[in-house]
Amino acid sequence: MSRHRNVRGYNYDEDFDDDDLYGQSVDDDYCISPATAAQFIYSSRDRQQHPNVERVDEEEDEEMTPTSPSTVDPPGPLDPLEQAQLFSCLDQMRAVLGDALPDSVLSAAAVRCGFDHQKALDAVLSEESPNPAPLALPLPPRAANQDKAPPLPQRTTNREPSSSAGPPRPEKAKGRDLSQNKLESEVVPKVARMTVSGKKQTMGFDVPPSGTGVPEDVTMTTEAPPPRRPETPPPRPSPAVGGKTKQHINVKMELEKRQGGKALLNLVVIGHVDAGKSTLMGHLLYLLGCVNQRTMHRYQTESKKAGKASFCYAWVLDETGEERDRGVTMDVGLTKFETSSKLVTLMDAPGHKDFIPNMITGAAQADVAVLVVDASRGEFEAGFEAGGQTREHGLLVRSLGVTQLAVAVNKMDQVSWQQERFQEISSKLGHFLKQAGFKDSDVFYIPTSGLSGENLVTRSDAPQLTAWYTGRCLLEQIDSFKPPQRCIDKPFRICISDVFKDQGSGFCVTGKIEAGFVQTGDRLTAVPPNETCTVKGITLHDEPLDWAAAGDHVCLTLTGVDIIKISVGCVLCDPKEPIRMCSRFRARILLFNIEVPVTQGFPVLLHYQTVSEPATIRKLVSVLHKSSGEVLKKKPKCLTKGQNALVEVQTHRPVPLELYKDFKELGRFMLRYVGSTIAAGVVTEMKD
Ligand code: GDP
Repeated sequence: MSRHRNVRGYNYDEDFDDDDLYGQSVDDDYCISPATAAQFIYSSRDRQQHPNVERVDEEEDEEMTPTSPSTVDPPGPLDPLEQAQLFSCLDQMRAVLGDALPDSVLSAAAVRCGFDHQKALDAVLSEESPNPAPLALPLPPRAANQDKAPPLPQRTTNREPSSSAGPPRPEKAKGRDLSQNKLESEVVPKVARMTVSGKKQTMGFDVPPSGTGVPEDVTMTTEAPPPRRPETPPPRPSPAVGGKTKQHINVKMELEKRQGGKALLNLVVIGHVDAGKSTLMGHLLYLLGCVNQRTMHRYQTESKKAGKASFCYAWVLDETGEERDRGVTMDVGLTKFETSSKLVTLMDAPGHKDFIPNMITGAAQADVAVLVVDASRGEFEAGFEAGGQTREHGLLVRSLGVTQLAVAVNKMDQVSWQQERFQEISSKLGHFLKQAGFKDSDVFYIPTSGLSGENLVTRSDAPQLTAWYTGRCLLEQIDSFKPPQRCIDKPFRICISDVFKDQGSGFCVTGKIEAGFVQTGDRLTAVPPNETCTVKGITLHDEPLDWAAAGDHVCLTLTGVDIIKISVGCVLCDPKEPIRMCSRFRARILLFNIEVPVTQGFPVLLHYQTVSEPATIRKLVSVLHKSSGEVLKKKPKCLTKGQNALVEVQTHRPVPLELYKDFKELGRFMLRYVGSTIAAGVVTEMKD
């Protein structure tokens, strides 16, 4: 949240082309109307070339005939998979370079370097700047052209991870190799640097040129080398694999005890940059006593000195996360507080497009959300209309399965707590949120002032407000959210969102437990690479524990497996019932406002949890009725915007997937094409 300050003034409209929607459930609800999605999904299309759609072959045969369009003029004919790899590589290069170089240059380098984005970046940068690289790239044209956009503030702090104040942090295992550091510190604006942190997606991007097994130069990749491409899906481990016998615990009872009878709630705060998210939540934490007077005083003095007095509450969250200056993790926002009936894990999900991969990871773990909107005249409109983050975030969290939403209509002090303004905003948002799939009865509007603290933890007694508002304050609303059902009885699953080396033996992984529970000493299977490891330690909010269960955001210390084999996106599971690796599956998808019809062989990037993998639409099975699911047309020649369809997806390499009906969170995915989200879907059948 407060990290947004670094990108204030940036043009989000132009930038929004990445990871905007993720895993929209199309199985049981149809929450995104294509018309709604249309308003933002292709906001950046104008800077992309429009592909020439080839004619769809009328043949009915089952043979794959890639008819996908070529969008980026690759320097030679590429098969669909290579195109997907190219797009993936271009996405990553664009995240670093913005629009500084034309597509043709990037494409040529990407192809030359076998779609290894690090090598390709090195190549274009060394071609472009024979002189030592400047500290920051010139602003991409889109930012420089902004009417009132100030230059992006550049961080000048020393980025050496260990040099920041605070307790020493474990060295990150990934994205910290020397070549990477050098590249980033020399040429990348700090803002962009965050986007290419070791947190981003993992498997699938650093695909070696076809034919070779492993990248030649693994030190050039931000991530650990991807697992070798298996010829066949890895064998399921024998049920005999297992660790020490678990000391039997009644997890439900233990959870009750541990949580003092309170329910666990994972809450993500979303909204347009500058809406006041950090201030609101920082102030709430302060009022709840999570920050002591002395610390608050220090923030006030320091923020004043920095000429940012109004940010003092926003600093609370940064400080709580301890990693704000490193700007590299999504864990930074993880903090907790209690209400009378809930234990809340608050997730600081960055909002700017550059951080959307991090936001997706955060939002994917959320049960409920607080959407913060700025009530000031013009500001609400800026966030809500044309390309603002309000819509994107609303759609994003709904796509990720969040159904309950509190809307903090913030900065009400700026509009003298006017009822009319509150109602105007509520009704505009209400209309949109309904289209996005939220039930009216699950959306709650609360007038707030993050700065003055009004209506945050206690009901305001400001006469201007009490004259017309008698509803809940924000904390009361958070307290009244319905806690989700935890899948404690299901086989253990945790999708890894970070991997780093700790000081002791073994290494650490973090993530939210999606299902089941884990105890220290447990043997787990990591998929991929389908190897067993042992849980040596478990921490929850930095407190060591013997066990943790579904819903917990934990850090697990693992031994018995090489850290190099574990990357973000791997799923740790119960060895007796591991997640399946799958490279061909059927899925029900909802197509957004696509400009190019999807045809057989269409290259896409499959985004699944924190994973991206080049893939193709292998078969168009049928067009379905949006509500009833009834087959409207078998074997369609192409799919167009707004359609619901059953398709068969072929991934380049196997990815760990679940059927949506078994594990909703692990059965959702989204499809991207040239940096835009074109569809969201759910896995209905695994083929192989
Ligand atoms: P974020 O980017 O959404 O996290 O927004 P910040 O919390 O960083 O706030 C952006 C600016 O809005 C800061 O200058 C805040 O002081 C200001 N701000 C936040 N909440 C309020 C509020 O309720 N009233 C007023 N007047 N200003 C606010």
